[in-house]
Amino acid sequence: MEKILIIDDSRLYAAQLGSILEDDYKITIAQTGEEGLMYASTGTFSLILLDVVMPGMDGFTLLKKLQEEIITQSVPVILVTSLADIEHEQRGLVLGAVDYITKPFHPLIVKARVNTHIKLYNYRRQVEHQSMTDQLTGIANRRQHDQCSAVKWDEATRLQVPFSICMFDIDHFKAFNDTYGHPAGDKVIINVAKTISSYLQRSTDFVARYGGEEFVAFLVGESSGKAFKYLKKIRQAVEDLCIPHAPSVADHVTISVGGITLVPQTGDSYDFYLKIADTMLYDAKNFGRNRVVWADERMKQLREK
Ligand code: GH3
Ligand code: MG
Ligand code: MG
Repeated sequence: MEKILIIDDSRLYAAQLGSILEDDYKITIAQTGEEGLMYASTGTFSLILLDVVMPGMDGFTLLKKLQEEIITQSVPVILVTSLADIEHEQRGLVLGAVDYITKPFHPLIVKARVNTHIKLYNYRRQVEHQSMTDQLTGIANRRQHDQCSAVKWDEATRLQVPFSICMFDIDHFKAFNDTYGHPAGDKVIINVAKTISSYLQRSTDFVARYGGEEFVAFLVGESSGKAFKYLKKIRQAVEDLCIPHAPSVADHVTISVGGITLVPQTGDSYDFYLKIADTMLYDAKNFGRNRVVWADERMKQLREK
């Protein structure tokens, strides 16, 4: 059941709204703006019904705060106004509320408006999710990588933790397509994506299909030594899938991996270090493929095999 947050200092009105909606939604009631903000920031609500006039933090201030936080800014807010006060409604709509309902409540109108906005919200989320997901493999796509890397890079810079960027590329994949056909190639891409992502399941890990038969990942908090070791394991796991690939280096499908670990400093550019990871990948190809090449914190190269 989807969750709705009602923020209203009047217990009576909040209970009335709650009883109109409780058959279809899970209702949470907050009686102050502060309490409402706390609940909202859990990011679990599909809609917020917000009373405009409240003692302490009023509805408009709260609305502004909700708009400022990434976690709450996309959640639709319907304003609840006690009088048919045009000015309140206008101000709320300008500040980003999606709609308003007036007291006293008409149950059918409340239900209809709430249902509409929840439907729109879910539709938008679905479209957003699709636009960030690679159709073939179901993992993140390059657009999500661009967004997520920027956020995580800034975070690692602020917290001064090691950040590893990693590029993967399937070896002699053109030859695979030529030998086994494009649909079989697609299956390989899916399996390689599954294998890589099964090893990158921590909440701080990220992996995306960067394009064609290339993947990009980042890990947060590991030293270069640990990241290098872990990526060797992932590379081995792909080899262990034992997908036949006669024209390739090991008679079956393999990947080459290039990466770098560093503690990013203010002003460092993610793209610059992504290029270095790509250079390491290029070296892995040149040294014979099916191997990991890494640049450590001192820019010393670590090579597998
Ligand atoms: P290398 O070992 O140097 O990486 O050689 P390669 O043949 O893998 O490299 P290259 O970049 O020349 O070829 C990549 C191939 O990947 C070419 C293209 O046909 C194939 N490819 C890219 N995207 C897809 C896809 O979505 N499905 C399939 N089946 N093949 C793809
Ligand atoms: Mg390639
Ligand atoms: Mg390739």
